[in-house]
Amino acid sequence: MASGKRRVVVVGTGLGGLLTGAFLARRGHPVTFLEAQSIIGGRFTHIDYQGFAIPTGAFHAFPGGVRGHLFRCLCKVGVHVSLVEPAPSVMVAVDGQRLPLHLDMTRSQSPVLRRLVGVNRRGPVTRSAARMLIAGLMGRDLPAAEGMRRIGGTEAGVRLLDRLTKFALSVPAEEASAVELLRSILSQRFGREGFLIHGSGSMIGRIRAAAESSGAEVRTAAPVRRIIVEGGRARGVEVEGGESLDADWVIANAGVRRTLGMLGEHAPSRVVEQVATLRPACGFTHAVRSRNRLHEHLSIEIPLDLRHIDGIMPVSNLSRFLCPPEWHFALAYQWMDPAEDPEKQLEAGRRELLEHLGSGAEIMNTACYHSHNPTANIAQMIGQHGKSRPPAILPGIEGLFLVGHDVQGYGTAAELIGESCLRLWERLERA
Ligand SMILES: Cc1cc2nc3c(=O)[nH]c(=O)nc-3n(C[C@H](O)[C@H](O)[C@H](O)COP(=O)(O)OP(=O)(O)OC[C@H]3O[C@@H](n4cnc5c(N)ncnc54)[C@H](O)[C@@H]3O)c2cc1C
Repeated sequence: MASGKRRVVVVGTGLGGLLTGAFLARRGHPVTFLEAQSIIGGRFTHIDYQGFAIPTGAFHAFPGGVRGHLFRCLCKVGVHVSLVEPAPSVMVAVDGQRLPLHLDMTRSQSPVLRRLVGVNRRGPVTRSAARMLIAGLMGRDLPAAEGMRRIGGTEAGVRLLDRLTKFALSVPAEEASAVELLRSILSQRFGREGFLIHGSGSMIGRIRAAAESSGAEVRTAAPVRRIIVEGGRARGVEVEGGESLDADWVIANAGVRRTLGMLGEHAPSRVVEQVATLRPACGFTHAVRSRNRLHEHLSIEIPLDLRHIDGIMPVSNLSRFLCPPEWHFALAYQWMDPAEDPEKQLEAGRRELLEHLGSGAEIMNTACYHSHNPTANIAQMIGQHGKSRPPAILPGIEGLFLVGHDVQGYGTAAELIGESCLRLWERLERA
């Protein structure tokens, strides 16, 4: 290999893998992507289904908007995407009314916060939040629900937070980390979240094109069976079917648990124990269509009046590109309680959702993290809550780098991946 050039194999074409491979390809390294599925993008893409853009996970949403980490990553790999801003960020449906809630902290929203959360004075809230962050940095984190109580939030406020964490992180507020949530908010740098106007699949396609135009090769239906480790260093991978590929750097984006499985006896026991404590995420995403308009607003709806549905995204209000012109389209998210019967919860959620959206609404597709539904079989195995995610570099194995949602970092969803990519790329530039 010419000096400074490394042969790179990327295992998995989720957002983290694609971005990192595209970045390295642009730096002149020869890159091969190996993807187990027949499509690329993992949980951040969409499948075209009867003309609708059904996401494989991510709701086409971009938590940090144009000022976030993910946007910076895209700029570094030469990809431009168009975002539309929901306005306001959230619409809370409560007592038959819809109240606007801005996640942009520069806006004044005291009346809504006072009514919904019981909090309206910024000074004491900021001081309590700062104290929580400092305690968290010293290893004394709190459940998000407890954090809300500490800033003076009422039980109604805790209920609202619970819906938001179930919707965005797949965990109840009693289990979500207060510090992670606070850092997620801070990582958004007081900017606005955005929504991919052409859907997540278009962004994934552009990252792939950027990587290929720099010489990278993308292979689909090529599951990696084993990461080859010799003398404490990753040397390449073995693909299902027996073919081996040599590599100087292996970028693992298949999820931490699967990556540890591919390492077999070389998996560091401390990380294996740490990952064993992570719980799988549970949830259903319902894709709903209607000939009638489903919503009047451009915001994520948090329906506090409902019991099972945690959030509804009015997709076609935000972008007309994501469904046929004569239809309206929404995505609804339902957290699944692992202690309860999934079928009963699913049934109750579907019934409630259709009643809420009114006549004409029909559920086209429900993706469940644990089913073999086509839009769900690539959904995550590990919860979106990352209190104890392992690091990007495993102790005792050189040349192996983990990227993606399961890797340590703070931020919401894809923003977290963006942040960990930027950190890893700096490191790889120095290597
Ligand atoms: C319902 C839901 C809604 C979400 N909404 C949002 C949102 O609106 N905004 C947001 O920012 N984030 C959202 N997220 C989170 C976001 O989708 C994920 O954080 C992100 O897509 C994960 O990317 P990743 O890099 O970890 O890779 P993944 O998407 O996990 O991809 C891993 C890839 O590795 C492949 N793979 C696995 N095993 C192998 C193997 N042996 N060999 C080769 N390849 C393999 C898989 O097929 C897959 O393609 C949502 C997630 C879900 C589930």
